[in-house]
Amino acid sequence: MKLFCISHNYHYEIENVIRLFLPFQKILVLKEKEELSGDYLYTEKIEENGRITLVSEFSFGGKTQKSENQYLNITDNEAELYLAGMVLTQFVKEFDFKPNWGIVTGVRPSKLMASVIDEVGEENAKEYFIKKFLAEPNKAEMAFNVAKMEEKIIKSADGDSFSLYISIPYCPTRCSYCSFVSHSISNEKARDLIPQYVEKLCEELKVIAEISKNNGLYLKSVYWGGGTPTTLTHEQLDVILTEIENDFDLSRCIEYTVEAGRPDTITKEKLETLKKHNVNRISINPQTFNNSVLNEIGRRHSAEDTVTKYNLARETGFDAINMDLIAGLPTDTVESFKNSIEKAITLNPENITVHTLSLKRSSTIVTEDEKSSLDATVTGDMVEYANKRLSESGYKPYYMYRQSKSLGNLENVGWCKENKECYYNVYMMGECQTVLSAGAGSVTKLKEPCGRQIERIFNFKFPFEYIDRFNELIERKDRINTFYKEYPIK
Ligand code: SF4
Repeated sequence: MKLFCISHNYHYEIENVIRLFLPFQKILVLKEKEELSGDYLYTEKIEENGRITLVSEFSFGGKTQKSENQYLNITDNEAELYLAGMVLTQFVKEFDFKPNWGIVTGVRPSKLMASVIDEVGEENAKEYFIKKFLAEPNKAEMAFNVAKMEEKIIKSADGDSFSLYISIPYCPTRCSYCSFVSHSISNEKARDLIPQYVEKLCEELKVIAEISKNNGLYLKSVYWGGGTPTTLTHEQLDVILTEIENDFDLSRCIEYTVEAGRPDTITKEKLETLKKHNVNRISINPQTFNNSVLNEIGRRHSAEDTVTKYNLARETGFDAINMDLIAGLPTDTVESFKNSIEKAITLNPENITVHTLSLKRSSTIVTEDEKSSLDATVTGDMVEYANKRLSESGYKPYYMYRQSKSLGNLENVGWCKENKECYYNVYMMGECQTVLSAGAGSVTKLKEPCGRQIERIFNFKFPFEYIDRFNELIERKDRINTFYKEYPIK
């Protein structure tokens, strides 16, 4: 579809609004007027004697809507929001679907809410958020509550602290909705690389530990993700866990998480190995408690396996367990999703994270047919049910984010029991602390102590590259030293 942006630079915001309704539409942005035909969105900003006129003309399938509004003394930022709002209104009319977050299209609504709180104060923040961004009241409430929870955690991220992230990009099989770089170990080639991968990872950890010490940084949290770290054998886990213990000072580490996401990777030996090395938080992810949906998405475990492994983790002494659920999975229904939520509540884990399915191109479920069967309204009902029931059951929303192309532009929310927040999740999402990362596909994020500067250092994505070009990625780590010279810890 053609998007005309005449005399303004709001195309990014407007494109985001279009994608709420037409996620896979190719959008051609044009800055010059030309004859209008076919499907198009024509937008224009006209400035005359301090008066601004905003124009939006939307034509789709032969039907055309036109709006024109005039404003006095508005800022550029306000003009952008107003124009996005005009476009949203036309699209809502055309597609008969109102996105719950209105024109809040960025990744983190709670971050936006935090800036609204700063601007207009807590008492007025929700109302402002609803009016300005056309969000539903329940979403404003959610963003407000999360912003307040995040504030406390963000304040705890001292300028001389860091988190350590370890990437294990392997899984037993690949889920159909997966958009991560994760290798199924059912593939012999991928599996054969694991011993070398573990070796290189340990080398990288040594380097990171040295750099962190030399720069006066202390370790505040550790997080293993991927992939599914527990795809490794308990011996391999032991090697890496021992390396971390030997290299880093863990005395001020408040949280040590390992994702054991796939129940089919969990064994008693692995849980005991994690426990022995002071891992104090794990996730065991059902995604759904419906076996036919699990089968549909390529997870080779049953709902019963999840419960068995969860009980095993409890017996091993884990008292901080997260469970991920996904709203909008193919073939799932609202009833079945409600059942999954109820089942998770009954199991009573400390954290429940409710994701909305994201239709990334790198996942295998995005085909033309399936796309149309994944209904954003149904997913919205699932998310609303989860929000209601989790609140009623003593959980609080403490962090949130959105992936691009999530169904209905809906959110992912981490819920926790009192004082059971995962700090790493907030540090990472809030970009409020340096995260030093090891392993293929991981990204080191450098954060200026007490400032806003953020810089990223990327590791190679695939294990074979990570192993083959290891020296190159170690050289890149020197940027951590120069960064802290430029932005010293005060
Ligand atoms: S468990 Fe997670 S990382 Fe692994 S294939 Fe499934 S979605 Fe991807």
